Amino acid sequence: MSGRLAQTEGLTDIQREILSTVRDFVDKEILPVATELEHRDEYPTRIVEGLKDLGVFGLMIPEEYGGLGESLLTYALTVEEIARGWMSVSGIINTHFIVAYMLKQHGTQEQKEYFLPKMAAGEIRGAFSMSEPALGSDVSAITSKGVRDGGDDGDFVLTGQKMWLTNGGSSTLVAVLCRTDEGHPEGTAPHKSMTTFLVEKEAGFGEVRPGLTIPGKIDKMGYKGVDTTELIMDGLRVPADRVLGGETGRGFYHMMDGVEVGRVNVAARGCGVAQRAFELGVSYAQQRHTFGKPIAQHQAIQFKLAEMATKVEAAHAMMVNAARKKDSGQRNDLEAGMAKYLASEYCKEVVEDAFRIHGGYGFSKEYEIERLYREAPMLLIGEGTAEIQKMIIGRRLLEEYRIQG
Ligand SMILES: Cc1cc2nc3c(=O)[nH]c(=O)nc-3n(C[C@H](O)[C@H](O)[C@H](O)COP(=O)(O)OP(=O)(O)OC[C@H]3O[C@@H](n4cnc5c(N)ncnc54)[C@H](O)[C@@H]3O)c2cc1C
Repeated sequence: MSGRLAQTEGLTDIQREILSTVRDFVDKEILPVATELEHRDEYPTRIVEGLKDLGVFGLMIPEEYGGLGESLLTYALTVEEIARGWMSVSGIINTHFIVAYMLKQHGTQEQKEYFLPKMAAGEIRGAFSMSEPALGSDVSAITSKGVRDGGDDGDFVLTGQKMWLTNGGSSTLVAVLCRTDEGHPEGTAPHKSMTTFLVEKEAGFGEVRPGLTIPGKIDKMGYKGVDTTELIMDGLRVPADRVLGGETGRGFYHMMDGVEVGRVNVAARGCGVAQRAFELGVSYAQQRHTFGKPIAQHQAIQFKLAEMATKVEAAHAMMVNAARKKDSGQRNDLEAGMAKYLASEYCKEVVEDAFRIHGGYGFSKEYEIERLYREAPMLLIGEGTAEIQKMIIGRRLLEEYRIQG
């Protein structure tokens, strides 16, 4: 079902072509199977293969490395389309995209040449790992450690436990944030003594590389299909040339840069899920009759539809604005924070209204809205909670509107 909501002005022919191809793929290959796969918590292997063929894994990777060299906006609009089909599939791409982005922005020439072409083809698949069992919001408190092994080659030995890795099992490259105190005098700010390590591994569970264990999938309320895992490092050896950018102490900045584009991505996912919920709600409201007429003809339901559509529009506009700001080379933390905050909150509200419109049937697993209802909450948490977004937004506002004296 397509309509006039969530249109984007000023797209190029190429962008329009990519988006219409992806929408077609979502309608034919994702929507018909998403709910069934979700209920079985099954990895969408065929869908992922199809997206590889479409080049989606290399969408933003520069053409010189075999990607399509597209903008963050094209990427975000693609994610919106995919999330409209099934949010978990956009999650499979998101961490891959963040790692590719971090490599593109901060990697050494050798790292870019080695990883990016394989990532563009979807042969190497990325995950990224900041969170630990004791922390998620407060990244500067991580305890996982990287220590030089004392040999001439300057290799590192990593120890620690990580939590909540999206694609932890299916990925073959994990960008892992660890504390590396070397070279940083006592009293250095915590975020200045962190390093991002590029850890290659086998896909799967168990000991996937000496010193590195992926215990198994975390059983989740929604966001199924995609694997979310812990990661345990116990004497994991990583060569010095697998420090992102070749320099220790820059990891916090790398991750925050990655998360900034990730926030636009989560906003886009919120937009896609909300659009689907609106489609389901507006369709059901015209089919279900009560008191002698379709429920869409009751003003209370029509008002719900009006509110839902307005939220879909507003979230889309803010998400597009945040992506365009980053594409223009400007800092977009304020816009990305606002877009992520608004899109995820609105998504939850639109899904809830679509659920209410379905009456009792919304509670049945036979109806798609039941799946969306369990998926929307993840967007309130991932890539920084609402409270964290508001901290970022508030801080930036006080910088921008500082009064003199
Ligand atoms: C399905 C899923 C997938 C994920 N994937 C990844 C991934 O791929 N990689 C990764 O690194 N992480 C991932 N995460 C982790 C995610 O980023 C964290 O869960 C999130 O940042 C919140 O951290 P936390 O769970 O530790 O909550 P906490 O930080 O413990 O926060 C608990 C509550 O306190 C609030 N709070 C915290 N600090 C403040 C404050 N200063 N002021 C006011 N309120 C505050 C929070 O908003 C929240 O409501 C994933 C999480 C989930 C659920």
